Amino acid sequence: MKLKNCEICYDLFVESHYHAYVCSRCQKIEQSDLQKIKRYLRQKPRADILEIQEQLNISSEKLLRFKREGRI
Ligand SMILES: [Zn+2]
Repeated sequence: MKLKNCEICYDLFVESHYHAYVCSRCQKIEQSDLQKIKRYLRQKPRADILEIQEQLNISSEKLLRFKREGRI
């Protein structure tokens, strides 16, 4: 068992799987953000980061991280 600091809220959490970088609470928020983004991209496949950021009110750092991780 390995303790880590959540990269979003800096709380300590137990690393439950490889590559975990956020606590379960933040992970839930991330999941719902990710779903919103995917839904938006289905409607507007050509939307760029800036547009998604403005329309969904999700920070560009988060969007860029999702993109870097290949999740969007
Ligand atoms: Zn957290």
